[in-house]
Amino acid sequence: MSYRIEDYPALFQLQQEKALALRQAPLQYRKKNLRRLLTWIYDHRADIAAAVRQDLGKPAVEADLSEVQPVTGEIKHTLANLHRWARPQKVAPTLLMVGTSARVYYEPKGVCLIIAPWNFPFNLTVAPLVSALAAGNTAILKPSERSPHTSALIEKMVEELFEPAEVAVVQGAVPETQALLDLPFDHIFFTGSPQVGKIIMAAAARHLSSVTLELGGKSPAIVDETAHIKDAVKKLTWGKFLNCGQTCIAPDYVLVHASKAQELQQALQEQVKEYYEAEDGIERSANYARIIDAKHLARLQTMLDDALQGGAEVVLGGKVIEEDKFLAPTVLTEVKPDAQVLEEEIFGPLLPIVPYTNLDEAIGIINSKPKPLALYIFSRSKQNTRQILRQTSSGSVAINDNVLQYSHLNLPFGGINNSGLGKAHGHYGFLAFSNEKAVLKQRIGLTGISLFYPPYTKWVQKMVELVVRLF
Ligand code: NAD
Repeated sequence: MSYRIEDYPALFQLQQEKALALRQAPLQYRKKNLRRLLTWIYDHRADIAAAVRQDLGKPAVEADLSEVQPVTGEIKHTLANLHRWARPQKVAPTLLMVGTSARVYYEPKGVCLIIAPWNFPFNLTVAPLVSALAAGNTAILKPSERSPHTSALIEKMVEELFEPAEVAVVQGAVPETQALLDLPFDHIFFTGSPQVGKIIMAAAARHLSSVTLELGGKSPAIVDETAHIKDAVKKLTWGKFLNCGQTCIAPDYVLVHASKAQELQQALQEQVKEYYEAEDGIERSANYARIIDAKHLARLQTMLDDALQGGAEVVLGGKVIEEDKFLAPTVLTEVKPDAQVLEEEIFGPLLPIVPYTNLDEAIGIINSKPKPLALYIFSRSKQNTRQILRQTSSGSVAINDNVLQYSHLNLPFGGINNSGLGKAHGHYGFLAFSNEKAVLKQRIGLTGISLFYPPYTKWVQKMVELVVRLF
């Protein structure tokens, strides 16, 4: 069913009523929903691959690795752990609280809004839904308008599996999202750009809705003088050019120790060839995705032109085929620090290489920019690694790898400040969609605190004095 803007308040009300009922539902009910979702995804793997191929030219292996498995993995991990996560947690009394008992209850927040981007359009819409359902919520999903095939498939899936009162899909772009944001959601889970993240947070403030903001930014990779270059390049080439560079945690630029810069460039050239070169060029490769649309291709072309006008050199790639939304894996050197490609999030297959001579300089460059979503360290030096970990701040770090930290379901996934607010995945995703309700139980009759009730006699004053000093 397609919803018009004027239908949203009624849909919201329907979900509010259902959310109240869901609070009473047993955990088995949530698990049953998750199992049905899992079965649907396994039964429709080919449809998911076809949809993301139409939207992004994504190779089937990448569809399985980056759209299907992250969601099925999230569901299985949740099914295995939900009974522990959802169980009220007993907490020990502090000294002043002796005689009471206390627990943290995890209750569903209520009606949630999930707004998704286009780059991993199935994964980034459905994985947050897994956490929302696991925590016992209802949800309205707003997939991206730029990946229409996947958005339509998600709508079909939701209609086959759920009543609109429990999960519904609203299709649309800015006006539709803004109309949804007028409603008093209990939680908004947004994945997208920092610019739009600010709009979402401002809108959420009108109702004091809680938010999780999964944003983007410039994620650096440091390749130091001790790095194993071949190994680093195998990983970096995959992490950067996967999904045609349109990955929020892709290495955005590489800071390389000057002594290793030549070797790195050479290795990148060879590695790109090995991964993507087809007989008649990378544009024929079955292993390389496409840019989402003409607007983003034009944005990347402008970025590339700007870098070249500033004196940058193309070490590799640079080829654009507009009608095919193709942009080759491109490596740039001699890039001016104020070039767009070093100032804005790239979100495409352009990789600037920036040499440094000492680690303080590289750290200074990272710290001069907003805190990144991810930071990658390629090094065999414990000392260098420790220094980078201590002197930089980012949502996540991978040492001697990239992108992989996303798939570790026992790690929180998210950014910090400009790269995001709040965490997702596994237990952290469950918590994002739960209200951690503090419940204290007191005895009947004489209690510790009753010693301090009025009237405030000299004796009470003495007791309070003791408490202030001792506890
Ligand atoms: P975007 O911010 O343009 O759009 C995201 C969603 O917001 C879409 O559903 C869109 O319809 C909606 N939207 C856009 N403009 C809006 C407005 N003015 N008001 C209300 N809603 C609006 O992002 P995108 O182009 O879809 O995705 C790319 C960005 O997402 C990059 O910055 C990338 O780093 C980030 N991203 C982050 C993660 C993460 O997990 N942290 C994952 C993927 C992408």
